[in-house]
Amino acid sequence: MKHAALRSLACALLLTIGSAHAEPPFAKERVEWNQPQKPFHVIGNIYYVGMAGVSAFLIVTPKGDILTDGGLPESAPLIEKNIQALGVKLSDVKILLNSHAHFDHSGGLAKLKADTGAQFIASTGDRPFLESGHIPYGPSSQIDTTPVHVDRAVKDGDAISLDGVTLTAHVLPGHTKGCTSWTMPLSDAGVTHKAMFFCSITVGGNSIAGKLAYPTIVSDYRASFARLKKMDADIFLAPHGEQFGMAGKLARMKPGAPNPFIDAGELPRLVARMEAAFDKDLARQQAGGAAYVPR
Ligand SMILES: [Zn+2]
Repeated sequence: MKHAALRSLACALLLTIGSAHAEPPFAKERVEWNQPQKPFHVIGNIYYVGMAGVSAFLIVTPKGDILTDGGLPESAPLIEKNIQALGVKLSDVKILLNSHAHFDHSGGLAKLKADTGAQFIASTGDRPFLESGHIPYGPSSQIDTTPVHVDRAVKDGDAISLDGVTLTAHVLPGHTKGCTSWTMPLSDAGVTHKAMFFCSITVGGNSIAGKLAYPTIVSDYRASFARLKKMDADIFLAPHGEQFGMAGKLARMKPGAPNPFIDAGELPRLVARMEAAFDKDLARQQAGGAAYVPR
């Protein structure tokens, strides 16, 4: 008995020491992505209110505003500060949207919804993950978020409107089951544009060979790639700044110069890059490689 007790004490001590040294998942990324970013005007009625590495966009109308994505769990205060820095009251945010239920884009939603009182709209596919605060596959499964109630669930092709601004949901599964890109026509300097708030189509550590993240994941990715190749948008915005060259474009924004965020080539270039990366990762995972390799 005495030996057994000592042994279990030693084990407990070792576990404590071990866990004290183990870095929590995404520790480095969270700090990097959550660096503050001054809010800025993108084009038309779109403003950037996110962080340096994780996006959030505010679409303004005279009758209230639409906020897309909630960033990391620790991002909500930064997003709120950025919204207020634009002279917008939190209570002016009437609609809250989400690209997908990964902790780095949905983590702040519960606080943002509570603080703004906005109606939260998300896809049927991601609803269970958002409402439970847990996605059962991919590296995001390691970090649970505060559950957030979905007030309205949308399916592919549904539209939402606020004071003449209409966003259409394009459910493009793969990255998550309900991954939703939103498109919106807008007018700027007398020219009509189409903006896309892209979800994602990276493998992102999902298991796409052997024990699959979810049964239809590979065919979902393939179908989403095929659809994305037929879509167009001349203002392409994405959940991570690096996916749409945010820092470089922001540096090139000069009064009188063409708006660098207008680039119809951005979407096809990104889709081509992500499809090539998907094929490469599929081959690597089929050869026995781990789905998720922390950096
Ligand atoms: Zn993601």
